[in-house]
Amino acid sequence: MNNKIVLLGAGISGLTAAYFLDKEGFEVTVLEKKNEVGGSIETFFEKGYLFDRGPNSALETTPLIEQMVKDLNLADQFVYANRKGNKRYILRNDLLHPLPMNPKSLLKTKLFSGSGKLRLFAEPFIGRSNDGYYQSIADFVKRRLGQEFLDYAINPFVAGVYAGNPEDLSVKSAFPKLYALEEKYGGLIKGTIKSIKERKNRPEKSKQDAKMYSFSDGMQVLPKAISEYLGEKIHLNTEVNSVEKISTGYKINLSNAGETSSILSNYIVSTIPAYSASILFGRFDSDLAGHLDKIYYPPVLVLYLGYDKKDIGQVLDGFGFLIPAKEKKSFLGAIWSSVLFPNRAFEDKASFTLFIGGARDPEIVSYDKELLIKKVRNEFESLMKITGEPLYVSYKFWPKAIPQYNIGYVEHERYFDKFEKENPGILLAGNYREGISVGDCIKNSEKIVNKIKNLSNY
Ligand SMILES: Cc1cc2nc3c(=O)[nH]c(=O)nc-3n(C[C@H](O)[C@H](O)[C@H](O)COP(=O)(O)OP(=O)(O)OC[C@H]3O[C@@H](n4cnc5c(N)ncnc54)[C@H](O)[C@@H]3O)c2cc1C
Repeated sequence: MNNKIVLLGAGISGLTAAYFLDKEGFEVTVLEKKNEVGGSIETFFEKGYLFDRGPNSALETTPLIEQMVKDLNLADQFVYANRKGNKRYILRNDLLHPLPMNPKSLLKTKLFSGSGKLRLFAEPFIGRSNDGYYQSIADFVKRRLGQEFLDYAINPFVAGVYAGNPEDLSVKSAFPKLYALEEKYGGLIKGTIKSIKERKNRPEKSKQDAKMYSFSDGMQVLPKAISEYLGEKIHLNTEVNSVEKISTGYKINLSNAGETSSILSNYIVSTIPAYSASILFGRFDSDLAGHLDKIYYPPVLVLYLGYDKKDIGQVLDGFGFLIPAKEKKSFLGAIWSSVLFPNRAFEDKASFTLFIGGARDPEIVSYDKELLIKKVRNEFESLMKITGEPLYVSYKFWPKAIPQYNIGYVEHERYFDKFEKENPGILLAGNYREGISVGDCIKNSEKIVNKIKNLSNY
């Protein structure tokens, strides 16, 4: 039993954890309730368009990705985003402004007013806050960089990463590196300059330095390749219904096509979402259920559109655009999918992925989806100067899309650690712990190997 690990969930967290454990000689079993692997990573191909329903790309923040691409023979499929993707637009007054990426373009941009730009120069003279863990990213940025930078840089950025609200997200938990710049160096500008040198020597890349990648057949290529590697160690259509503590370890009760069965194991790595883990592990710790249930997953509707290139007035020379809440539009932003990666649409067509809802507009759950899509389409087509009708329209609704590391998250995190100590052999992992990005999930999966080794004296 000491060598046998059961992993719950075949999203990127469960798959990569199983992959790294398998490489270290552990006997892994992955249980997944859906009929395919990938979890939030889903790619589909229809009428000449290739779209991702979840992440459209990821950042190469760790050498583990290069290593996996090599080991899984994915080099032919692996693609970095077009260099044009470095240009990102932000909407202000119905105009798309390139996000300034250097001091010269910051001085020239019309995205920020003269006083907004001047306010940035005060940043090095602003001290630390005493609010510590209980500060939102909005409070942090307003204090250090001013209201306008919060409204027209951070608000849209937070919508793009978390589909979240800056007023709710904890700076310490959701943006730990930013928080650390103030803690360690006393400010963002000072900290950024000083940390550049330190970063150069590290194999891991910060999110702003890392290259964006995907695969020519979409993001699901990676989970599918890991699944092929693990073969019969992955059990699809297998839902975990409950977990019991027994004298020799844990009993995991499952159902597969109406049949129920159990597996015994000393080690369970749970990578299912917090609200599902609450049902399984809340049975033996109701306080744990309370913490897991407090992690908020707002809804997101992802809209896929395809047009004839000749009907589009906007020059397609970037990643896409993000919309600040102040601009009062019905969607959060759009990725210009066919600009970023090859193989997304026929040569004379352009494809777009739009994000709607999130913590900014959770009411979308109850909206009439067709009416909502019509409204979003009208706004999008006007901003992009599109004259023709779309040739392709479809959508995916995620009722619980991305976990929010809101203020108070640090107490959940502490409780998860306590639960793991009190229930040796159970590890709580997945995107509600230590980062939501694909890169963070992969890095955290690698850490699981050491945690298991320590537990099992392997
Ligand atoms: C719309 C959207 C866009 C995103 N965009 C990006 C992006 O551009 N870049 C980026 O880096 N990240 C992005 N993310 C975030 C990233 O994709 C996710 O955080 C990550 O893929 C989560 O992986 P995971 O394995 O932790 O969880 P999941 O992918 O949620 O996997 C959990 C798995 O557990 C299974 N499961 C649940 N309950 C049970 C049960 N009882 N028994 C068995 N199995 C169960 C589920 O079916 C699922 O397959 C995006 C996410 C979404 C939703």
